[in-house]
Amino acid sequence: MHVTGLECVHCGRTYSTAEADYYCPACGYHEGILNVLYDYDAVGKELNAAALAGNRNLSMWRYLPLLPISAPELIPRLQAGWTPLYEAPRLAAELGVARCWIKDEGRNPTASFKDRASSVGVVKALEMKASRITCASTGNAASSLAGFAAAAGLPAAIFVPVRAPQAKVAQLLVYGAQVFSVEGTYDQAWELCMKAAAQFGWYNRNCAINPYLIEGKKTVSLELAEQFMALGQDTVPDWVVVAVGDGCTIGGVWKGIKEMHRLGLLPRLPRILGVQAEGCQPFVAAWRNRAGLTPCAANTLADSIAVGHPRNFAKGMRAVTESGGAFISVPDEEILESIPLLARKGGVFGEPAGVAGAAGIRQAAASGIIGRAETVALIVTGNGLKDTQSAIRAAGRPVCIRPEIEEVQRAVSAGAAA
Ligand SMILES: *Cc1c(COP(=O)(O)O)cnc(C)c1O
Repeated sequence: MHVTGLECVHCGRTYSTAEADYYCPACGYHEGILNVLYDYDAVGKELNAAALAGNRNLSMWRYLPLLPISAPELIPRLQAGWTPLYEAPRLAAELGVARCWIKDEGRNPTASFKDRASSVGVVKALEMKASRITCASTGNAASSLAGFAAAAGLPAAIFVPVRAPQAKVAQLLVYGAQVFSVEGTYDQAWELCMKAAAQFGWYNRNCAINPYLIEGKKTVSLELAEQFMALGQDTVPDWVVVAVGDGCTIGGVWKGIKEMHRLGLLPRLPRILGVQAEGCQPFVAAWRNRAGLTPCAANTLADSIAVGHPRNFAKGMRAVTESGGAFISVPDEEILESIPLLARKGGVFGEPAGVAGAAGIRQAAASGIIGRAETVALIVTGNGLKDTQSAIRAAGRPVCIRPEIEEVQRAVSAGAAA
């Protein structure tokens, strides 16, 4: 393992991995988020173009030298990562950009991007010989943790807000996790989970306060870099676009990009576009006003980004400011419209938060944030089957007919006329 230590994003103090398990002991968990540091010279000896070309591991673990794991034999067998990257020219035309690629994270084992983080979290819990692993989640982190804990044979205790979509709750129960459906918001579920972890000594998979989880999330960018370089150096996109809730995903995306650049595996740095829902846009507000975080209510149907009090504000903000990117918010109607749009123009069915980025690209292109000649990579963070209710709301109802060919004929003609 090439981890050299942990650095607090707030005060800059550094710790050895033995000195801090989660957050900076001096700053506490609201501010003291830690960043994992590596010996990049040592990493580069094992992770370089030649090594990648010969690497037969088609999962996020192909980047093991850049991951904080000392016992690789504990890695669960579920395949997280190495998701496909598709070019979607008809979607690009529709959104008003020169080229658009879709990174389909719905293809992960539990159907969301969160599997990259859970996969690391479970190994860390096993390394620490924890009796149980816990997290609070709007849904996907929970179902993901349940799946990976099951694969690793580790008990999981999970806190979700009552409004979590049914499909996600079903996943938790099927995987055998102990589920606490908290009568309150995600923020309340989160605080309760923090207390339980402290009181019962459970391993805490909450991404914002556990620095190792973002290390899993960053692998999406390690893949993007490798995939774009395989397509040709000139394809590296101008923008990488992702939906933002707590800020861990976008923080991980940016860390991975910077690391590949540093290792000489990505010639230039894309800008990052963070997309939020209009009904819950604390990052957008802080970015526009050049201010700190003001927690807000969470009114959006995109449950995975309904986070009024983002727990990883510092890393999320940094991704956009350092990359020269932008934050943007989109109304729920545009998020809903993007579900069939992405499916019809790009062939990928995403959940509301998963497709919010597409709505964000359209708006950023219309307002000139993204130039017409620029190119984008959209990370679709979750599969559409996670939230069928929203999908049905967006796509409407089928034509109901009697089993007669004339009825088909009539419906086809009506469709052609419409
Ligand atoms: C968790 C999640 C996000 C946002 O990630 P954060 O780390 O909370 O910013 C976006 N989309 C989906 C589908 C998610 O599950």
